[in-house]
Amino acid sequence: MVKKRRKAETCSFCDRPYHEIRKMVAGARVTICERCIISCKQVLLGPQGKPFAAHTAAQKGNGFPTDFSQPADLCRVLDQYVVGQERAKKTLSVAIYHHYKRLQQNEHQQSAASDAAAQHIQLQKSNVLLIGPTGTGKTLLAQAIAKFLLHVLDIPFAMADATTLTEAGYVGEDVDSVLVSLIAAARGDIAKAQKGVVYIDEFDKIARRAQNASITRDVSGEGVQQALLKMLEGSVCHVPPRGGRKHPQQDFVQIDTSNILFVCGGAFCGLESIMRQRMGKRSLGFAAPHQAAAMKNFSHSRMPLSVQPQDLVRFGLIPELVGRLPMATLLNPLTEEDFLRVLTSPKNALIKQYQSLFRIDGIDLRFTNEALKALAHQGKKSKMGARGLRGALEEIMGEVIYTVAGDDFVKEVVVTQQSIMHGYPPQIVRLKNAA
Ligand code: ADP
Repeated sequence: MVKKRRKAETCSFCDRPYHEIRKMVAGARVTICERCIISCKQVLLGPQGKPFAAHTAAQKGNGFPTDFSQPADLCRVLDQYVVGQERAKKTLSVAIYHHYKRLQQNEHQQSAASDAAAQHIQLQKSNVLLIGPTGTGKTLLAQAIAKFLLHVLDIPFAMADATTLTEAGYVGEDVDSVLVSLIAAARGDIAKAQKGVVYIDEFDKIARRAQNASITRDVSGEGVQQALLKMLEGSVCHVPPRGGRKHPQQDFVQIDTSNILFVCGGAFCGLESIMRQRMGKRSLGFAAPHQAAAMKNFSHSRMPLSVQPQDLVRFGLIPELVGRLPMATLLNPLTEEDFLRVLTSPKNALIKQYQSLFRIDGIDLRFTNEALKALAHQGKKSKMGARGLRGALEEIMGEVIYTVAGDDFVKEVVVTQQSIMHGYPPQIVRLKNAA
């Protein structure tokens, strides 16, 4: 019901007096002005005008939630692909949620109906740094996020490799090139690309270190860091739309990175001893027992150690760049138990991949429990993280695929512990009427 204005009337939500309001709706005890009604509508509708789902977002058939109303919606998706790494999953889920809310806030602030006070509060972006040994799931996490962004939020995602980046004027790619694939992911829509997410892999390789010295890049790596700093904090970059080196005759597109979220990942070999030293120093050389244990087992434990900005500066990143990566999180080395789960649990688990490959030829592929344990043991020993598992499996499976593919009489292949540990051929079960 639209009420006739009375002199003492104010909106129960924003307290605006009646003379600033054209229309007001009154309930039994409250009144709401037209501006607050519009704001409520915007809160209820997403950026694409889709209604927000209830907190427990209904799952689509493909395992993705229909909306993003809490960080746990993303964390559940990451759980489907990545084993362990709970802290990194939470950090990333919160960072992406934050990014999404910032985009919503920007849209909200641009609308005429937004509250004047809210316009002065700017949510700052929180770029993320993932630190963890090779093969522990950093890239896999980024890939799972890419799927979520694509399926649920329609936000573009791109990956870049920091090892190829050089300061302008040196052989290699300009730092701006990381934006080229983002623009491509947004199908050339710059406005959309400006809201995207970029994952920069091998971020530790741009650190200021003697071993980075090379004639193909700026010797200290600092030029690359300075250029990345500008991009990470938000600047307008001029990018050749199809990538490659910049030259004066080229057309450039302008892209503002203020609302692009950057997730950076790297192994940061050697950071461990820097952290150890810091922890030792903090306790003046007499580490508390729990700290001593944490330091000793850093590579092998799941102690909730946290990396401090000064550790990254000592590692070789410039302080300003470290300041632009406020969410730094450590990934754990995988345990043998984790390796076992990596083999069979994730949506795209290696064993599931081989099984579906064999199923195309009508063959059942089975691994005994002992075979899986032996594989996990070998994977752990390889020091290549879960990457080592693929290598170990491919050696065995390549041979067996060669033998059974196209053989219509093979019913089942059983991989045993003997195959994994001593290289014996897996058992091949044939149909009874086979010759
Ligand atoms: P990195 O940490 O070096 O980026 P990746 O994410 O590329 O490692 O991992 C390499 C491969 O190892 C992945 O494709 C995946 O098959 C497997 N893998 C690594 N870590 C995990 C994990 N935590 N959960 C599931 N699979 C993993």
